[in-house]
Amino acid sequence: MARDVKCNVKNCHYWGQGQECTASAIEVNVDGGAEKASYVAETNCHTFKAK
Ligand code: SF4
Repeated sequence: MARDVKCNVKNCHYWGQGQECTASAIEVNVDGGAEKASYVAETNCHTFKAK
């Protein structure tokens, strides 16, 4: 269960006031299917669901 996840993606269905993610769990992957990220922008939330 995801707890205390701060997120700035305001157009996500799970985004709540105070920049809190309201999803019960989230999945984060690396761009291109890799297993290691070199910098923060290579990581992405795959639980994202557009409003
Ligand atoms: S599901 Fe991902 S993108 Fe959406 S609010 Fe939660 S952390 Fe942000």
